[in-house]
Amino acid sequence: MTPSPDPARTAVAPPNNDATLLQSAAPAQLLGVPDVAGYDIVSELGRGGMGVVYKARQLSLNRTVALKMLPGGTFAESHERTRFLAEAELVAAVRHPHVVQVYEFGQCDARPFFAMEYLGGGSLVERIRTSGRLPPADAASLVEKIANGVQSVHDLGIVHRDLKPANVLLDDDGEPKVADFGLAKRGGRADLTRTGAVMGTPHYMAPEQAAGKTKFVGPAADVYALGVILFECLTGRPPFVAEDTVRLLVRVVEDDPPAVRKLVPTVHRDLEAICMKCLQKEPHARYATAEDLAADLRRFLNGEPVAARSTGVFGKMVGALDRSGKDAEFTSYASVLFGFAVVTLLADGLQTCSTLGHISQWVGVGAQYTRLVLYAAIVGVARRGELLPRTAAERQLWSITCGYAVACFGGSLSLRLSLGWGADGSVEPVMYQLFAVLAALTFFSLGSMFWGWCYGFGVLFLCVAALMAAAMSYAPLMFGVTWAVILTAFGLRLRRLAHDAAALTRPT
Ligand code: ADP
Ligand code: MG
Repeated sequence: MTPSPDPARTAVAPPNNDATLLQSAAPAQLLGVPDVAGYDIVSELGRGGMGVVYKARQLSLNRTVALKMLPGGTFAESHERTRFLAEAELVAAVRHPHVVQVYEFGQCDARPFFAMEYLGGGSLVERIRTSGRLPPADAASLVEKIANGVQSVHDLGIVHRDLKPANVLLDDDGEPKVADFGLAKRGGRADLTRTGAVMGTPHYMAPEQAAGKTKFVGPAADVYALGVILFECLTGRPPFVAEDTVRLLVRVVEDDPPAVRKLVPTVHRDLEAICMKCLQKEPHARYATAEDLAADLRRFLNGEPVAARSTGVFGKMVGALDRSGKDAEFTSYASVLFGFAVVTLLADGLQTCSTLGHISQWVGVGAQYTRLVLYAAIVGVARRGELLPRTAAERQLWSITCGYAVACFGGSLSLRLSLGWGADGSVEPVMYQLFAVLAALTFFSLGSMFWGWCYGFGVLFLCVAALMAAAMSYAPLMFGVTWAVILTAFGLRLRRLAHDAAALTRPT
């Protein structure tokens, strides 16, 4: 019975013959309400960043609907409107018991509008506010339903990006439905321009979204927001709170969420684990899909073991190692690292030949200085002549790597001073042992900031330093090979991150 959506439909406003309308609602409240052909507007339900929502009667089917009118003006002329209508058509195709059903969309006086099912039960915000927090089982079952609704929209390639209790509406029976769909998916820009989105939403923003890495915002950001909703249902508050938006965003990006059971000790450990899995900083450490989250909540409700807790010590260790940080800002550096790997291998290979006496000692010395020039040249070419760091992340990386280089230089000088400048090549291997230990320290400091695997690389360098003792003449080669392997691994990872980001931004 639902009329088929017709984006070209333009409702011509009839003359002002809407007496019933004005009699049935407070006149002051309805000043300036649009006349939408085929509908009697009854009252205003709410106003948000994207327009006004009215309660209305659809005359042809004699049913109550919610009419969402979007602003006219510049919006009406922009490409945004065309995209809005295209996406509205997509959302209208979703038929899921936990997604607000869009019946029809069109335009009235060049203002696009939606007619959707009317939900009389208020939003989840009010439900949480009136009851403080929900009983854990109710919270689990509610979020399970919302997650299933979200999945049905993800299946269409749409990411909500603005999931929060205010956008979960309840029907008369208290059944939740995801609303306000797709509107936040106006590229990264809309997240900043929508009034209220910045003030009201940071609590629900995934770290990648809060950090402005819009390229990386995909379905996993919605899974994160579902975790925040679950957290709030269980505890009555979102995981992060702060005095102002900036501090809040920093917390979302950097701090670990408080444990649910610290706030409400009666929550079951499994449910806490499910919630925490959604709130992981790393998108891929969360549930892979909203459906997986729903399935785990179902397992919890059925009293079965949940996936969130079955990772075990090994799984947790792998999770910690795969923790990603600022490396995402260096995706364009993959080829730089591959270049470094080649130069390092060549330089240390030559050094080994020279230590073994196959070639002149001076070739080894030359290789050491040439490599420094080549590293700088590679970075210079990649960054178009600009060697100095530009971003905070680059400054951190620069200071750590320059610290490493200076420490290597200072360390080798000290060794030379104590062991002598001997031309027999006996000092170099010892220096390489020291370089390996310094490299280990460097990777330990990169671990928390860039990529968890750096800790592993640090341990690898310590092992290599110990191994060098067994074959001192090959110390430079071992050092070079280790570096080359690590640089290549890092380069491949950056390439994968770039690939993932591209996949997320690819139009659906
Ligand atoms: P915005 O983009 O402005 O946030 P929403 O779609 O979230 O718009 O709607 C704003 C408010 O309007 C909601 O908080 C709710 O109170 C009301 N509302 C929206 N859709 C419906 C609906 N289908 N049924 C009943 N009320 C609704
Ligand atoms: Mg809203």
